[in-house]
Amino acid sequence: MKIITHKFVEQIPRQLDDDVIYISLKYSTAIHKCFCGCQEEVITPFSPTDWQLAFDGKTISLSPSIGNWNFKCQSHYWIRNNQMVWAKKWSDIEIEAGRRQDLLNKERYYAKKKDSYWSKVIRWFKR
Ligand SMILES: [Zn+2]
Repeated sequence: MKIITHKFVEQIPRQLDDDVIYISLKYSTAIHKCFCGCQEEVITPFSPTDWQLAFDGKTISLSPSIGNWNFKCQSHYWIRNNQMVWAKKWSDIEIEAGRRQDLLNKERYYAKKKDSYWSKVIRWFKR
């Protein structure tokens, strides 16, 4: 476990400090240097199918967990109330399954959106 700091910013700064997560509401995204210490930059976009940000007025939480499968460190952790909490390391099979699930969620979400759009069009025609 590690204490981290959050900073709400307009622009993502060029120089990122250790143990700080920079949050841009304007761009609906956050960035931080991997909390394992490997210095890789982790970008977590906010969207209904990516990450969700919770701000309780003092601390931030991100969900779901952050799995840095593309980095050498393969670190996996949660950000909960300005704390980095280690999560279970995933096997290759779990990573692959996670990726597939993520894709499925996106497909489902956007299909639903399309449905609602078309159902509106159909309703309009039937008036
Ligand atoms: Zn790392």
